[in-house]
Amino acid sequence: MAKAWLALGANMGDAKAQIESAICHIAQHVNIEISKKSKMIISKAWGNTEQSDFHNIVIEIATEIEPKELLKICQEIENRLGRIRGEKWGPRIIDIDIIAYDRFEIATDFLTLPHPYAHERDFVINLLRGISPLTAEWVIKLAKQS
Ligand code: ATP
Ligand code: CA
Ligand code: CA
Repeated sequence: MAKAWLALGANMGDAKAQIESAICHIAQHVNIEISKKSKMIISKAWGNTEQSDFHNIVIEIATEIEPKELLKICQEIENRLGRIRGEKWGPRIIDIDIIAYDRFEIATDFLTLPHPYAHERDFVINLLRGISPLTAEWVIKLAKQS
């Protein structure tokens, strides 16, 4: 069984409820088990700072679903919750990113692992450190090497 770490964020509507709803959808998937959940935090928007604060959480899952399929499942849940893709790094009802999948390293147009900006985002790294310190250190170490 693989382990993966997902970062969820939202800053439109009832952000906390949407994150909780996304977690429920993930938990309901027959082939995904949620093994750890970080605390939920509120953080300043990253990249495009002219928008509302975000609610963020990081969860650890156990799954046999391969990374590309997992990304599709995350995107389907985003769509089901009503995400509309607007400007880059703009406000969103829900965002679900795969931060890491075991110790896989891949870079394609569709999927990069570990997530290319994870190491630059305190809200991701700090929450990840809280549930999997070794994964957080690995993400940072890889970024320093590249
Ligand atoms: P960022 O990826 O910088 O956090 P974002 O989450 O706002 O920005 P999205 O519009 O949600 O960006 O996604 C853009 C594309 O990123 C997706 O279509 C997806 O194919 C791609 N992507 C690449 N690597 C990942 C990953 N590790 N997790 C989620 N999406 C990824
Ligand atoms: Ca994101
Ligand atoms: Ca995303």
